[in-house]
Amino acid sequence: MFKMSKLLDSFGRRISYLRISVTDRCNLRCIYCMPPEGIPLIPHSEILSYEEIRTIVQAAAELGINKVRLTGGEPLVRAELPNLVEMLSQVEGIDEVSLTTNGVLLKKYAVELKQAGLKRVNISLDTLKDDKFQHITRLGKLKDVLEGIEAARDTDLQPVKINTVVMRGVNDDEVLDFANMTHKEGWHVRFIELMPFAGIRDPALRSRTCFVPSDEIRQHIMSLGKLEPCLPITGNGPTKYYRLPGANGTIGFISPISEPFCSSCNRMRLISYGQLCPCLLSDDGVDLKGPLRNNASTQEIRRLILRAVASKPEHHRLAEGVVSMKRNMSQIGG
Ligand code: SAM
Ligand code: SF4
Repeated sequence: MFKMSKLLDSFGRRISYLRISVTDRCNLRCIYCMPPEGIPLIPHSEILSYEEIRTIVQAAAELGINKVRLTGGEPLVRAELPNLVEMLSQVEGIDEVSLTTNGVLLKKYAVELKQAGLKRVNISLDTLKDDKFQHITRLGKLKDVLEGIEAARDTDLQPVKINTVVMRGVNDDEVLDFANMTHKEGWHVRFIELMPFAGIRDPALRSRTCFVPSDEIRQHIMSLGKLEPCLPITGNGPTKYYRLPGANGTIGFISPISEPFCSSCNRMRLISYGQLCPCLLSDDGVDLKGPLRNNASTQEIRRLILRAVASKPEHHRLAEGVVSMKRNMSQIGG
């Protein structure tokens, strides 16, 4: 079997991680991600089948990818997602299949996902208040997500990480409540800086008005106690981790704008309609679906993956205000 030990991009970064957006559909309409009416949907026939995704992951694994994460849209709205988890868990060279979800359907699928080979989940949650949850997600119920978090724990999809996008004037007043959950519930909370995307309707959210830099959040949390830097709880991603004294859980910061981590970026992104993208924040990509549906050989697919990896930009230009205008977050998958 063809086997390369390391997949390197043009800047010498080792690429080992593939995020796969399995659908552009979602059961929520978060204010920082989608307009209220949703986005024009990609026809089902244009979305990669599970077999096509597996073929791409096999080729990527042969080149050096060893971890995949399923995302969306909301990955759990795609039918029979556990089947895909099982298929990808069995690909030679893939050590870990994980999931990013809004948690609404997690209670329903946690056991099946675990049995299929899922290792862990990241759950997005931006507020601990019912009415604000309704405001931020436009459609959801907080209770469903909290039950999803419980289900993830009960089925040992651990460690569960909670992703929280902080927005000034929306949920920045809850930063300490989330930090306290690292004590009370042992949550691993990660505060994410708000990024401007095409799908955001509210001008305040799209501009810098609602942006809160990680350092401001860090300073605020220090009112609860000293934040001790600690090692990542898993993996080697861009999150910087800290712990409050005596807490079981950790507090992480993902700061694509104020503390860009492009120099250590190890990931590529596969969009549901078959484009392999080198960066969350660029409009570039290499089409894999067309060649796959025209019976391209595995060698050809590997060659296209290498081309996409070679096109990975050195860094994004968010700080200069350059954003992707073609895709929003729910399409490319955060
Ligand atoms: N639906 C799933 C969920 O919400 O977890 C997976 C897809 S969602 C696009 C992935 C992550 O992107 C979520 O944690 C979400 O909070 C984050 N996200 C979406 N829009 C964002 C934005 N404008 N800035 C920062 N993070 C964003
Ligand atoms: Fe859906 Fe996730 Fe976007 Fe919210 S952040 S609208 S849950 S894709």
